[in-house]
Amino acid sequence: MPTASLLDATHDAARRSWVRSANGHADFPLQNLPFGVFSPPGDSTPRGGVAIGDMVLDLAAAARPGLFRGDANKPATLAGGASLNAFLGAGAEARQLVRARLFELLAEGAREQALVEPMLHAAADCTMHLPATIGDYTDFYAGIHHALNIGRQFRPDNPLLPNYKYVPIGYHGRSSSIVVSDTGVHRPSGQRKGPAETEPTVGPSRRLDFELELGVWIGAGNALGTAIPIAEAAGHVGGYCLLNDWSARDLQAWEYQPLGPFLAKNFVTSISPWVVTPEALAPFRIAQPARPDGDPAPLPYLLDEADQEQGAFDIELEVFLLTPCLRDQGMPAYRLSLGSARHLYWTVAQLVAHHSSNGCNLRPGDLLGTGTISAPTRDGLGSLMEITDGGKAPIALPSGNTRTFLEDGDEVIFRAHGRRNGFAPVGFGEVRGRVLAA
Ligand code: MN
Repeated sequence: MPTASLLDATHDAARRSWVRSANGHADFPLQNLPFGVFSPPGDSTPRGGVAIGDMVLDLAAAARPGLFRGDANKPATLAGGASLNAFLGAGAEARQLVRARLFELLAEGAREQALVEPMLHAAADCTMHLPATIGDYTDFYAGIHHALNIGRQFRPDNPLLPNYKYVPIGYHGRSSSIVVSDTGVHRPSGQRKGPAETEPTVGPSRRLDFELELGVWIGAGNALGTAIPIAEAAGHVGGYCLLNDWSARDLQAWEYQPLGPFLAKNFVTSISPWVVTPEALAPFRIAQPARPDGDPAPLPYLLDEADQEQGAFDIELEVFLLTPCLRDQGMPAYRLSLGSARHLYWTVAQLVAHHSSNGCNLRPGDLLGTGTISAPTRDGLGSLMEITDGGKAPIALPSGNTRTFLEDGDEVIFRAHGRRNGFAPVGFGEVRGRVLAA
């Protein structure tokens, strides 16, 4: 259980919203209140908003007529902006003030209902944008079962390299190609060299894959040359999203040594549009699972008692595949995986502390990927590379087709939910992307 200090009136599951679709909503009940950037119908200007049920509250409009008073006024104005960088940079306290006031304004019995109601738009009619200008993007490798599964394919006797349990492994990705959910994904072309080939050829990737990850939005940053101590690291997280680190496995296998991922990864990365706050996820915090016997303890700069007690998340993660055949036959998207964020070897705070431990400065709106999250069981794997055992074990789809890797027209959909008795379930919405021909 999360400590009581993380919980407040905004977690009260008994409170309902006068926005009726929010009550019992699978993703966006009154207790979630994620921030994003959207354009309402008929007006292309991006502005900040909050998801509530099937609606989006225009925060740019709500911040104007004095609905947010005192210390909540300035951060609410920032949250209404065309990008959330300044709001993220304002830090945890500012965000909590806006959340608390939003909860009051949208709860049943709010005196301001008539004033707020015209500021709501049907989410289905809105266009979502990237929530922030992403200066830098870093992708980690903290899903240990994924690291083991992939490692086994290359090194059956020695799947994990000796640094894995000491260093949160990561690489610097590319921010320019991060796109919001529902943006088409062009199949990348590049150099491929199969094991039987002596020379590489150039052409469209034949082994296009997804990677199921959580995205971590950096809130308040740190100055260059200073490190974020582990005990303060969680306070630098501004929120969470779903992240699909699309990966061209054939390009990757040929290019990755000795410097790591490059063109196999940077052609596109898709994220869900809503920034789900640490406050909304507080009820779903759990202790970091104990390390297996024989594993080293984290080094002191990565070890904090409170972080070990509540730094992990019990968040359910799902991957769905919608192929042209399923679509043509009117069949629903097929669930490929049901896993959990609890299978990360490092907490998010450890990723943040490690990233800044050399004095590297993180900035508001920077994005971290956790790395692919796979469960220890076959039903909760986070990539096709694992699900099909490197393409050797095709998936049989209900439409009668099979898949090893993604084909043109295939759509990949991730969803995530926190669920716990006594609390309203909180969802992330979804990230989806359809593969377009090269
Ligand atoms: Mn990745």
